[in-house]
Amino acid sequence: MDNDRPRAVLFDLWGTLVPNRPERRDAVAHLMAVDLAVDTGAFAAAIRASHRERFAGLTGSLAETLRLLAACCGGDPDADAVERAATRRLELTRELLAADAETLATLDAVRAAGWRLGLVSDSSIETPAVWSGCPLSSRFEAAGFSCLVGVRKPRPEIYLHVTRSLGVAPPECVYVGDGDSRELSGAAALGMSVLRLRLASGGASGHYEGDTAFVGPEIAQLEELLSHPFLTAAEPRSTLA
Ligand SMILES: [Mg+2]
Repeated sequence: MDNDRPRAVLFDLWGTLVPNRPERRDAVAHLMAVDLAVDTGAFAAAIRASHRERFAGLTGSLAETLRLLAACCGGDPDADAVERAATRRLELTRELLAADAETLATLDAVRAAGWRLGLVSDSSIETPAVWSGCPLSSRFEAAGFSCLVGVRKPRPEIYLHVTRSLGVAPPECVYVGDGDSRELSGAAALGMSVLRLRLASGGASGHYEGDTAFVGPEIAQLEELLSHPFLTAAEPRSTLA
């Protein structure tokens, strides 16, 4: 059905498809600090404080990033210590990316309705490093990670990286996210239909650069997407003649 107009749903990752879990991140940061022989509190703070640079891909490989963060805490770890800490960080990322069954089922249902799926994520280098091995990744036809694209949301380049990969125009996309990185405003500026996911539970803490000024439709659970007019009012590819 080559004449079908392609349409896509673009998703944020952290805080939308999987929880942020800052307490778990801090706990593992403390273990990494022991690996690297630096102060635990200072190292956890250095990780948190460096998110803009890490998300923009400015801190190099994971090993280079860990050496940089350790140096910020007065450390000078050897290669074995960096390797231990890097392995811990990669294991944490796999754990954090383990989406629950309801989330995977919702993504499957959106795809089954004829929508193509794209991921637009402010992430540091360990996320794309383990992404392809995660159950989430098989649901997505395209993914844009800020650390690889080189820009963070809400800059248009990261959204356009994904829409180009999918072969869709931004106005043909629905964007779904919790609002961190002012991502909702960025998606709306490109003409996308935007849905804020505001979890009834309040969601995981650890928000940053939240899109507090953005006003628009909201859903309280990801599965509400399936019955939202943005999806039901549009004609998915499978129903077009
Ligand atoms: Mg988010």
